[in-house]
Amino acid sequence: MREDLELLWELQKIDLDLKNINVERDRFPKEIKKLDEKQSLEKERIHKEKERLESLEKERKQKEKYLLGEQDKIKRSEGRMTEVKTNKEYQALLSEIESFKVTIGRVEEEILVVMDEIDELKKQLSKREKDIAITLEKIEAEKRNIQEKMEQDEVVWNEKSQRKDILATQVESNLFKLYNMLREKRQGIGMVSVKHETCQGCFVNVPPQMFIEVQKNNSLIRCPNCNRILYWDGNGEKA
Ligand SMILES: [Zn+2]
Repeated sequence: MREDLELLWELQKIDLDLKNINVERDRFPKEIKKLDEKQSLEKERIHKEKERLESLEKERKQKEKYLLGEQDKIKRSEGRMTEVKTNKEYQALLSEIESFKVTIGRVEEEILVVMDEIDELKKQLSKREKDIAITLEKIEAEKRNIQEKMEQDEVVWNEKSQRKDILATQVESNLFKLYNMLREKRQGIGMVSVKHETCQGCFVNVPPQMFIEVQKNNSLIRCPNCNRILYWDGNGEKA
């Protein structure tokens, strides 16, 4: 009996490990997907700031082009100065030139505002690009870490499954059936250790005499409360 209980205890630990791996198999891909989303969000943000910068540069060029046009108009008007014959024409030309100059002054101011904005944005962008590069690298490292764990899980899964198959043939068949039945009913745990006179499955105290018997590990004893098979695994930290 002692050997059967020991084999079954090993099997229970393996079953719990396999159960954990199954939980991780479900969780890890979701975590990676979340990190992917975080990465594209960061990239999208910097992309939008760059687009804003490009549109400001474009605006600046358009204004500069417009400015050149207005300056040309002044030159043309000034060229016509020599051709004017009346004072009225002369005054008209002067006021035309004056209005071009007003426009130029306004556009020059607008260009300065845009240039300020461009400078500010460039400063922000260069800082943000550095920050984002660090963030992206961190996310990348997290992803690599998870992928490594996933690969590790598969290796462990294969090893433990092989051992499980062997144990399944070694444990006495009635005990094995009882264990599987309990495991199905009790959240994957059919066999539990007892510590400090307490069942570690339901955390209810077992009677003192039963506790003494359990510590011998040579008979099939079940928790009076949760019905699980009890096992003595020492009083230490290991479960
Ligand atoms: Zn119990």
